[in-house]
Amino acid sequence: MSEFSFKKSLGQNFLIDNNIKDKIINASSITKDSLIIEVGAGSGSLTKRLVLLGVPVISFEIDSRLTDKLNEIKKEYDNLTLVFGDFLSADLGLILSNFRYKKVHLIANLPYYITTPIINKVMNEVSIDEMIIMVQKEVGNRFKALPNTKDYSSLSVFLQYYFDITKVTDVSRNSFVPKPNVDSIVVKFTRKKDKLYLEDEDLFFKLVRDAFVHKRKNLRNNLGSYDLDKLSEALGNIGKDLTYRAEQLTVLDFVFVANYLCS
Ligand code: SAM
Repeated sequence: MSEFSFKKSLGQNFLIDNNIKDKIINASSITKDSLIIEVGAGSGSLTKRLVLLGVPVISFEIDSRLTDKLNEIKKEYDNLTLVFGDFLSADLGLILSNFRYKKVHLIANLPYYITTPIINKVMNEVSIDEMIIMVQKEVGNRFKALPNTKDYSSLSVFLQYYFDITKVTDVSRNSFVPKPNVDSIVVKFTRKKDKLYLEDEDLFFKLVRDAFVHKRKNLRNNLGSYDLDKLSEALGNIGKDLTYRAEQLTVLDFVFVANYLCS
């Protein structure tokens, strides 16, 4: 890839550290019924490892300059499907309808400029079982953030509701070409087997989003359009009140309040 001119705007920092690729692969729990989605195949260095797992791999790449290089890999492995174009506008449901599988895994060294949109799309459009993703370190910490910390956000609540989240490894800047100017981390998301019961998932999502809309404001201000008497009752049951801020509520608190509002 020495002559390749990397596009910063596409988040092109290619992974050259075999040890990190091994850690990504070893962290996955692929079975014969798995299907893997990779976003951002790049020159295919991780893709090559993924196809060796012997299950269908669908790799997306937006940069047409990488087409020939990736097609070379495809010639060798018929379990590889390449999709050239913008992952964010792909019809995932349609693409996946061509495959037989029971479990979906997202395994990727993501283009960092669209980390959150990629995760949102995957969560909305497929029933994702596992994600092992390289992300910017601060973003990874936000996913795992606990209440009462500056990184705790609505995304932390959503992700922690669905997944157990663990760190696979920190990754040095020297593991990439070109060297990025941010630190990286590989994070693993495993879908929870015993998800908390929610009466109305849409209401839960709305409540969490609204509660965090202005982070420094309290619940009374952010949730002014809700039935405040009922909200106050719900919060009273968990030892809290409307003067609390969203960042002081745990995932379990949000689930309790959302269910209470449905009662
Ligand atoms: N997987 C390779 C590796 O680990 O070396 C490349 C990872 S690099 C961090 C991210 C890749 O995502 C780049 O090849 C970039 O061109 C691609 N990419 C950026 N935006 C994309 C998009 N919207 N859809 C699909 N691929 C995209």
